[in-house]
Amino acid sequence: MAFHYESYVADAHNDVLGRVLNGDDILIRSDKGHTDLPRLQEGGIDLEVFVIWVNPDEYVPVGSYDQANKMIDALENICTRATDKIAIPMTFNDLLVNESQGKISAMIGVEGGHPLENSLDKLQHFYDRGMRYLGITWNNSTDWATSAEDETSEKLLPFQGLTEFGKDVIKKCDELGVIIDVSHCGEKTFYDILETTAHPIIASHSSVYNICPHFRNLNDAQLLAIKENGGVVFVNYYPAYIDSTFEKRANRVREKHKHALDSLKVLYGEESDDYWYKSQDILDKDLAAVAPSLDQLIDHIDYIVNLLGPDHVGLGSDFDGIEVLPRGIEDCSKTPAITKRLFERGYTEENIKKILGENFKRVFRQVVG
Ligand SMILES: [Zn+2]
Repeated sequence: MAFHYESYVADAHNDVLGRVLNGDDILIRSDKGHTDLPRLQEGGIDLEVFVIWVNPDEYVPVGSYDQANKMIDALENICTRATDKIAIPMTFNDLLVNESQGKISAMIGVEGGHPLENSLDKLQHFYDRGMRYLGITWNNSTDWATSAEDETSEKLLPFQGLTEFGKDVIKKCDELGVIIDVSHCGEKTFYDILETTAHPIIASHSSVYNICPHFRNLNDAQLLAIKENGGVVFVNYYPAYIDSTFEKRANRVREKHKHALDSLKVLYGEESDDYWYKSQDILDKDLAAVAPSLDQLIDHIDYIVNLLGPDHVGLGSDFDGIEVLPRGIEDCSKTPAITKRLFERGYTEENIKKILGENFKRVFRQVVG
């Protein structure tokens, strides 16, 4: 535990702001969801990426930009109410200052390019407000980049990869010092990004395709390309991305609660945020019972270390963006369990520190400065 607390711990992907907009106060300890400030502290987390994610089913084509700004307002409000505990970092030096003052760095990452509403001025605006990584797509493609979901679907796409404007977005990010996040991007987009950017990229929340063949995961060629680029893959804890047998069990759970879920769908619409949060309350316990173990998550870290060495892997929990976590890491306060498991698998202190946060810091320093 002492080793964990003295190490720099960074988590590259957290969706709790969605719950904050829903009215939850994360300055108070709760047993709801996966994240609040007391549990982040208990988990020894020094940097958490608070993701700005806007549901495209509700806010595309109109409203993404405004809604994203509301989410940043919400994060600023949290930081204003707890100035001694949490602050938004703009520079690498801010990471160091926050660390020395015992504050959590609440980094802003925008997930999916749709809040840019096809405008480089809006990209600049998000940068000015503190965005330090940009996820180029979510599951939805934008007008300028195709997603993994769309590229692997039967859908007929008007283009694949990055358009010329898409390349301008990447170049603008390079110019400003915004890290490019390729999680959710299709393979064509992924390689177009690598050809366009001059900086190390990240996958903020993706796991290993070779262990769990899901379109959201990265195959070996992509992993090797990220090594070549100097970037980092932050493994996603989501059971469906780490264990290919999970979905089958989860579907049985959903089937069991079909009637309750169906009435929620009628009330709120299946793609709505309300449906998502309310269905979690119903499914929570039963899904947790069929979740994979923490060791299966560690297998993904292990795989990447064996393939790429220890410099290209880190943690990208997806806390509060997923309905269930592996057994043994049920919320952010359990993060020290990862450190413990890595020790048990014979990792050196130096390599554990890289995985916990030093790899994140390296890319942040290189790209954001
Ligand atoms: Zn995501």
